[in-house]
Amino acid sequence: MTSQSKSQQEFRKSLARELKMWAESGVDFVPAGKTIEESGHLGVSQIEKAGAAVGEDAVHEALENLRLNEIGNCTRCPLHKGRTHIVFGVGNPMAKLMFVGEGPGADEDRQGEPFVGKAGQLLTRMIEAMGLKRSEVYIANIVKCRPPDNRNPEPVEIATCIPFLKQQIEMIKPRVLVCLGKVAAQALLQTEISITKLRGEFQAYGDIQLMPTYHPAFLLRNPAMKRPVWEDLKKVMKILAAP
Ligand code: SF4
Repeated sequence: MTSQSKSQQEFRKSLARELKMWAESGVDFVPAGKTIEESGHLGVSQIEKAGAAVGEDAVHEALENLRLNEIGNCTRCPLHKGRTHIVFGVGNPMAKLMFVGEGPGADEDRQGEPFVGKAGQLLTRMIEAMGLKRSEVYIANIVKCRPPDNRNPEPVEIATCIPFLKQQIEMIKPRVLVCLGKVAAQALLQTEISITKLRGEFQAYGDIQLMPTYHPAFLLRNPAMKRPVWEDLKKVMKILAAP
């Protein structure tokens, strides 16, 4: 990223923070120069909308920069050899809820989007059951290129790729992260505790609440496990509904 676009991005972020702070402090107008003098004052909802729009643009731009300029045509780990597409992530840059899986499968590799195969369709139904649209959340994986034969990513592949995911999380700042399956939960929590033991209890990922649960592909093979996963998602919904 050029230093000019970096400073534009910083400016947008700080403007978004400022607008949000004014709105939260009860300020109901912004006297901001000629345009406003001509057109009158901005109301609270306009301030909030303006802040959200500026913030969304800044995060969108930061994500694009990460994808195009930092990841680029990445060959940092061996997984690049078998991929068709880098599967970066998809969804709302301002999402309060972010899902993280382990890595792209064949459908995802072909289409360049995470969770689009059968397991992805189940994930979409789970999201809708939570009262959300798929477009309202953000979905990404621990590694961005498909491991051969859908094997689990190797530790060195995870270690090489996970900094990109961590940057995405840092930019999006979701309220809750849901880790789908062992690989995602263990990699983000840096633990070897089994998913069976981790599942269902919130963990801390910095100041973000992280809920480990089973992967939708596991649920397709073990439909009886949908019930405990739904219990986990209900806990997530509670956090999302809190003010
Ligand atoms: Fe690069 Fe990640 Fe793909 Fe490895 S998996 S080649 S680190 S983008």
